[in-house]
This record gives sequence, structure tokens and C-alpha cells, in this order.
Amino acid sequence: MSAAPPVEPVTGPPSNGDETIQILLVDDLIANLDALEVMLESTGCRMVRAQSADAALLALLEQDFAAVVLDIKMPGIDGIELARMIKQRKRTQHIPILLVTAAALDEGEMVSGYAAGAVSYLSKPINPIVLRSKLAAFADLARGRRALAKMNESLQREVAERQKAEEALREANRDLEQRVLERTEALLEADRRKDEFLAMLAHELRNPLAPARYATRILDERGGTAPELVWARGVIERQINQMARLVDDLLDVSRISRGSLVLQRERVSLAAVLRESLDSSMPLMEQNAIEVSVTLPPDSLQLDGDPLRLSQAFVNLLGNATKYSPPGGRVTLSAVRTGDQVEIVVKDAGIGIPSAMLERIFEMFTQVDQSLERSRGGLGVGLALVKRVIELHGGTVTALSDGPGRGSEFRVMLPVGGAATGPVDAKPSSRTARRHKVLIAEDGKDAADSMAMLLTIMGHDVKVAYDGEEAVTMAGEFRPAAIIMDVGMPKLNGYDAARRIRGEVWGRHVHLIALTGWGQADDRRRSKDAGFDQHFTKPVDLAELEKVLSAVKPAAG
Ligand code: ADP
Repeated sequence: MSAAPPVEPVTGPPSNGDETIQILLVDDLIANLDALEVMLESTGCRMVRAQSADAALLALLEQDFAAVVLDIKMPGIDGIELARMIKQRKRTQHIPILLVTAAALDEGEMVSGYAAGAVSYLSKPINPIVLRSKLAAFADLARGRRALAKMNESLQREVAERQKAEEALREANRDLEQRVLERTEALLEADRRKDEFLAMLAHELRNPLAPARYATRILDERGGTAPELVWARGVIERQINQMARLVDDLLDVSRISRGSLVLQRERVSLAAVLRESLDSSMPLMEQNAIEVSVTLPPDSLQLDGDPLRLSQAFVNLLGNATKYSPPGGRVTLSAVRTGDQVEIVVKDAGIGIPSAMLERIFEMFTQVDQSLERSRGGLGVGLALVKRVIELHGGTVTALSDGPGRGSEFRVMLPVGGAATGPVDAKPSSRTARRHKVLIAEDGKDAADSMAMLLTIMGHDVKVAYDGEEAVTMAGEFRPAAIIMDVGMPKLNGYDAARRIRGEVWGRHVHLIALTGWGQADDRRRSKDAGFDQHFTKPVDLAELEKVLSAVKPAAG
């Protein structure tokens, strides 16, 4: 079956103002026109009369006709000439022309008539039936054309509307893309600000913890032994420790999301790291009556890693195994070397993990059950930190579980850094407690005073300066063996104060300890450049400080 031929678009003919089909009758004689009109009365078409070629052309210009009935013999422009003119004009060339002749035409005349564009002939006397039937066919044709033109118009309207709609859609799409772009940028910016805010918040939250912690130590030393007081001190200390853990988590969140978590690598014994992790996890395990079984690697198994961060990762895994086990549950920790890797497994028989969550739990803030009833504390940060720390060490961590209620297993693979060649933990050279003159320079009054009081209790001779200028002056008079100096202080910052002190003859051998909220590599370099011997991040671990002070040489004079 062949496809229908394409429909030639019909450019709208001049409208008659209504739907009536019109026929143009052209004859110079009124009587002939009258006769034609009478014969065609019953067709229902409207007859338009023209007595000359000019009148006919004018009518054709202004109106639409289904056919032209044309007398061949007319004065001036005759019927054949008029037919040719009608056929030459684009707008009228489709109109069928019926030529009326007075007598039968010879062949030559007929040919020239057809060549001019006539469709048919009628000779006089006209047979009305033949005339009507021919014109009825032309009228049908005209109706068809008109319907087609209408359809075409509506089709074109539809196409135009669709094009308009498509353009509107494209425009909306462009607009949407632009808005998505702007929104994405705004979100990224908001995310960056949030990270900065978190970092700042964590640092700011840390500062009040130090004096509070020192104060509890002072209460320990001087606060009496009434059971209520001992209990109250315990509560304060435990809550401070819990708060410190949360703040540290928060700080790590911001480090992970800003990609600024860096390792302080050294040669470490994995067994030492795991023992340390177990020690830290023990209070929680004992509280939950967890039965723990441990298989440690030999001390000679060494890693190239950051012992604090590694221990933090294993403390997190052990803590989770404890948190998500029933009281009295069993937790195993084992480490086995396979080739140049070591596999550390932390396994529990606790609540288990649905398989769909096994990968997702390593994402920041993801918790399997967030309902308040099931909440076991924590921010959903621990495993994200574990993953990051292990990956920074070139290792992997995976979670396994047979599902809810069937326990969980965390497998950590770490590259082994070769066998031990020397002692792992170098002990500080001197552990004998020494009493020193110590200057504390810190603008936070509570932090400065509580630390001063603690160091005094420990037996040191302590003075406090609350700004950089005062620190330099006081150091000149007091000649301390050690100065613990906050780097962010009014009047003169800690770095400049340290430089001034180092510039004095008496200041060359003072032990200078920088105290900052920021422990990044950059901060450490800055404090070293300024002449500091050591760099402590707030809040200062008192045991660490005692260790450092006990190794300090007494002041020269
Ligand atoms: P947190 O424990 O603070 O919620 P983590 O990042 O350490 O955050 O753990 C994320 C989630 O993974 C936990 O909330 C818990 O749903 C699930 N999870 C982690 N360890 C275990 C485990 N040993 N057993 C069962 N679920 C666990």
C-alpha cells in the first residue's frame, strides 16, 4: 500500500465572510447571465456575476470561487484570454473553469482552450442537468479544499503552539539549570561555612573543659573525702570526660570533611597500640560486664603509623562492640599476620547490622537505629573516623554481620611496616619529679589560675601572666625554668613574646611550651619558628605536662 501523497498546503483564499460556495458567472450579456443563474438556482451555491473580464478579475481578487463559468465570446478580453490570466495568477490558478461556447468548437479551438486552463466545455444551448452536475462536482471540490485549508490552519496553529510550548520548556529548563547551579554553589558554600563553624565550635568548646578538668583535680587533692563529695567529683569528672570525647569527635568530623586529618607517623608496635586501645575501652567494658578475649600479635610486628589515631580507631571499634552487645556479652579482639598485611578483627555477639547498612554505617552521621528508645549515645561519627584513619594508613575496614541479633564483625587490614629493629617505646630520659619555677602565660583567667593552682599543688613555684607583654616582663624578673604560653594573647601574641624571650641572654635556655587550640602541622611549624621547644594542644593532658616538666633542667639563675 502506498502512502497517501503529501497534502499541498492551501494558502487561505479570500474569505467570503461565510461558508457559502460561490460560482462566478462571466458573460457580457445579462440575458445569458440570467439564464445561467436560473439554471443553477437549485444548487444552493451563490452566483456572482461579472459582465467583463475586468469585473471578473476584480471579483476573483476579492472573493473565493468554486468555479468560473466563462463565455468564450466576449468583447475586449475574450474567454480564452481570461482563462489564461486566471491560470497565471497563483491565487486563482486552482479554480476550475467551464467554458461556454455558442457552437461546437473545432479541435484546434478546444486545444487552445484546454491549454489556457479550461477544465471543461459546454456548448449552447446549455443542458441544465449537465451544467449542474459539473458544477456540483466543482462545489464538492471547493468544499474539500476549504475543509483541508481549515485543517491545515489548525494543524499549523497546533505546530506553532507546540513550538511555543517547546521553547517555553527549553527556557524553563535553562532557568532550572541555572537555579540548580546557583543552589549547588550556595549549598557548597553553606557546607564550607558549616565545616568552618564546626571546627571553630569544637575549639571553642574545648577551652572551658581544661580549667574544669584542672578544677576537679584540685578538688581531688584538697576537696575532702566525704562520700558525697567523692561521688560529686566523680560525676563531674565523668561528664567532663564524656563532653571531651564528644568535642573531640566534633573536631574530627570537621577534620575529615575538610580533608585536614593528618597522621603523625612513626614506627609503632601493633600489640602496643591494641593494648593501649583495650586499656582505654576497659572501663566501658567492665561497666557492661563484657567478657573480652584477646589474641595479640608479637611485639615485633611493626607498623608505620600514628599510634594515637590507630588507637582511637580501635577504641571506637571496641566501644561499638561493647555498646551494641547485651550486658555480659562476649567481644573478641584478634590480630593475625598474612603476608605483608595484618588483619585485626573486632567481633561481638550483639545486636548485629542489617545487610543493607553494612557499607552505609561508615558514612558520617549514619546510625542504624536512630529512635530515642534505642539511642546509645554517640554522634554516628566513630566509624567514619575509623575508615578515614585506616585508609590514611593504606588499609581497609569492612563490616560483616549475619543480620539483626546475630552479632557483628569489623575486619581491619593494615600493611605491615617490617620487623622491629629496636626498642619501640622510648621512655622519657628522666622520670624523677623535679620542682621548677614555672610561668603560665594565658589570657583565659580560669584556665590560667586552675593550671597554676594544680602545678602549685604538684610542688612547682608558679606565677601567672595574663597577656604577652606581662609574660615577657614577668619572665625577666622571675627567670622561670619553663614557660607555658598560650599563643593567642592580647597586647603581644605568644609567638612574638617567645621571640622576645629568646632574644634575652636569660631566655635562651628557658623551656618554652606553646599552648594552642589548633594542633595542625602549620601551627607546630609556626611555634617552632618562634623558638618554642614544644607544642601542646588544648586541653593539656596533665600527665603529659608533668612528664615534660619533670624532664626540664632547672633554671640557670
Ligand atoms: P555511633 O556508635 O556513635 O552511633 P558509629 O559511626 O560508631 O556511630 O556507628 C554507626 C552506626 O553503626 C551505629 O549507630 C550502629 O547503628 C552501627 N554499629 C556500629 N558498630 C556496631 C556493632 N558492633 N554492632 C551493631 N551495630 C553497630
